[in-house]
Amino acid sequence: MQAIQGTTQLLGVIGYPVKHSLSPVMHNAAIAHLGLDYVYLPFPIKPENLETAIAGFAAIDLVGFSITIPHKQAIIPLLSEITPTAQAIGAVNTVWRTDTGWKGTNTDVAGFIAPLQALNRDWSQATATILGNGGAARAVVAGCLELEFAKIHLVGRNWQKLEAFQRSWNTVAPTPSLEIHLWENLEQLLPETTLLVNTTPVGMHPQVDNSPVDRALMEKLPPTAIAYDLIYTPKPTLFLKQAASVGITTFDGLEMLFQQGAEALQLWLGQPVPVDIMRQSLLRVLNSNA
Ligand code: NAP
Repeated sequence: MQAIQGTTQLLGVIGYPVKHSLSPVMHNAAIAHLGLDYVYLPFPIKPENLETAIAGFAAIDLVGFSITIPHKQAIIPLLSEITPTAQAIGAVNTVWRTDTGWKGTNTDVAGFIAPLQALNRDWSQATATILGNGGAARAVVAGCLELEFAKIHLVGRNWQKLEAFQRSWNTVAPTPSLEIHLWENLEQLLPETTLLVNTTPVGMHPQVDNSPVDRALMEKLPPTAIAYDLIYTPKPTLFLKQAASVGITTFDGLEMLFQQGAEALQLWLGQPVPVDIMRQSLLRVLNSNA
């Protein structure tokens, strides 16, 4: 890594807490590989200090920053512009400076679809079944729409929340292909599912013996289906182990994590970034913590 000096440009991540964030690892690894005069720092910012912090970032000429919990929605009124993707999702995870202020987008969509795009499949007859209806599910719905899935089933445990999700989505962009279901319906949905995505935290470390789906239900998926878990610790989750045991192709959340990071770094630097270096740096940290 280049020595920090008077000319070094600043990037970073805001969150509270932020000490668990893997973003500094992958971004600084890419910056070092490219030999650029940048540094990416963690900024723990309490919710009540968000506005002051953003004004401070402008004052010190920060180039851009990532946003994690709990600021992904709260940041929006402090920005001069957000992209249609961020608007549809209702959350921003990447911000950069423009002549008129801060502009925000959400790179989770690009991160989520990257491994699916690499398959070069036509998704126009495909059905996605998404487990969970929180923040990450919104990025997954946006991704499935971008890939032009024919049908998207959203599965949740609270009918009011499901209805609110569908309503808010249809307000931004009417989406007849989006249907909502309670978990009791999952068994019926699986035989027509091409892509099954877990966006719930069920199975995340330390609850590694949990899965949102029973092993027996996995057998209802067509053999060509794909199971995708947004969780990246453990790697693989029980959900993905169950899917693999019935011969289903799997993707884990690490791919999404570094792909969304790569997309953000590319936006800030205005040049291609070494995706493999970012992937390897994350794997090194996760393996050393395992
Ligand atoms: P969130 O907004 O809290 O949403 C979680 C969803 O899971 C909610 O719909 C919640 O249902 C549901 N849920 C929680 N516990 C459940 C249970 N025991 N049974 C059934 N449903 C349950 O969280 P999020 O931000 O969407 O994140 C979700 C997961 O995605 C986390 O594991 C996160 O680490 C991961 N993620 C990964 C990436 C990546 O880059 N790989 C990016 C974003 C998120 P209710 O609404 O009914 O409570």
